[in-house]
Amino acid sequence: MSAAPRVSFVSLGCPKALVDSERIITRLRAEGYEIARKHDGADLVLVNTCGFLDSARDESLQAIGKAMAENGKVIVTGCMGATPELIREKHPNVLAITGPQAYESVMAAVHEAAPPAHEPFVDLMPPQGVKLTPRHYAYLKISEGCNNRCSFCIIPALRGDLVSRPAADVLREAEKLVAAGVKELLVISQDTSAYGVDIKYQESQWKDRSVRAKFLDLSRELGELGAWVRLHYVYPYPHVDDVIPLMAEGKVLPYLDIPFQHASPAVLKAMRRPAHQERTLDRIRAWRETCPDLALRSTFIVGFPGETDEDFEMLLDWLDEAKIDRAGCFRYEPVKGARSEELGLPAVPPEVKDARWHRFMQRQQKVSAAQLQKKVGKRLPVLIDEANGTEGKGRTRYDAPEIDGSVHIRSRRPLRAGEIVTVKIERADAYDLFGQAV
Ligand code: SF4
Repeated sequence: MSAAPRVSFVSLGCPKALVDSERIITRLRAEGYEIARKHDGADLVLVNTCGFLDSARDESLQAIGKAMAENGKVIVTGCMGATPELIREKHPNVLAITGPQAYESVMAAVHEAAPPAHEPFVDLMPPQGVKLTPRHYAYLKISEGCNNRCSFCIIPALRGDLVSRPAADVLREAEKLVAAGVKELLVISQDTSAYGVDIKYQESQWKDRSVRAKFLDLSRELGELGAWVRLHYVYPYPHVDDVIPLMAEGKVLPYLDIPFQHASPAVLKAMRRPAHQERTLDRIRAWRETCPDLALRSTFIVGFPGETDEDFEMLLDWLDEAKIDRAGCFRYEPVKGARSEELGLPAVPPEVKDARWHRFMQRQQKVSAAQLQKKVGKRLPVLIDEANGTEGKGRTRYDAPEIDGSVHIRSRRPLRAGEIVTVKIERADAYDLFGQAV
């Protein structure tokens, strides 16, 4: 057997891009390719790019430049692959450029640049594929693309309209992951609550029953697999209300990641956000009545064109009322090709954007700290992410990996990553909790 070709892989961008990377790496490994740790000495470099914001494009172009300098044989894929001219302008000698989710074309380009070894060691592949996340949690992508047309976003142009996976397909993948030791499934897509609309909620056979490709039905079935199920990128459509009882029953984590982006109706309208007319504060109140410990995480944009002082004050007041547990805030950045740039609305000056961003962060920090303080004195299950003897770091059901906070734990016995322990919470700061395993 000839030596296996070695591919060095760079994965940039959001969790959705990470899932694409996992799929490509799984295919590469299945065909006998090895993954190199460094560009230097590899047969080829594959760069999975992000093209969402200008800053992400710059980062992608830099990563391509580094790969060209250190190796010279470079294939580019991912969101930036949808605008090949921008890549060729800077890096005319890349071998091939393919768009997002173009697995077949990426593999064809790899075959051409570095043909596979003759004996693929398919048998060595773990059945759940290769994952880039730690063993105990995994992202589960339920659909690609998006039917919305938010004015600041070019994802639908890059990734196309919504394409949902049949429910049985998703459930089979989830079951394999759980069998392989995954304790937490992070459900992702561009618009999780729209799942199945494109395939008319098609039923598919799962075990002894047929399951509709519907947000509620899929959540219920995932909740039966024995792992934590966390829902990301959910929009507050009315049918989201139906999932809250599953959270109260403990089937699905009491956690919703809803990118609200703003609170002012005028700004939301200009953003063309889905469900922007839903009365979100009333809805949040009702959700918390059904599931009192529901944690909400969200992202917001300040400085969107046309955002006035009144709009911004409305957002701050809304934060106080909504009591979002975790929030990220971005300053609006013009995105090439996005409609927000053509609305004819006045741009917010950079210094005003900055000032608003700081005020947002200050206000939200107070809200987050107060929400965390409520956890002090409780005994909570914590999934250990990192362990070092009798000390460790983990997360409660209210915090997602990488984006939310942690619990810092002391224990009498050694801790293991991936186990769930009960922790008595002793104190909180603005982001994290601290406690003792019991
Ligand atoms: S919901 Fe809006 S922001 Fe999210 S991917 Fe779709 S168009 Fe973009």
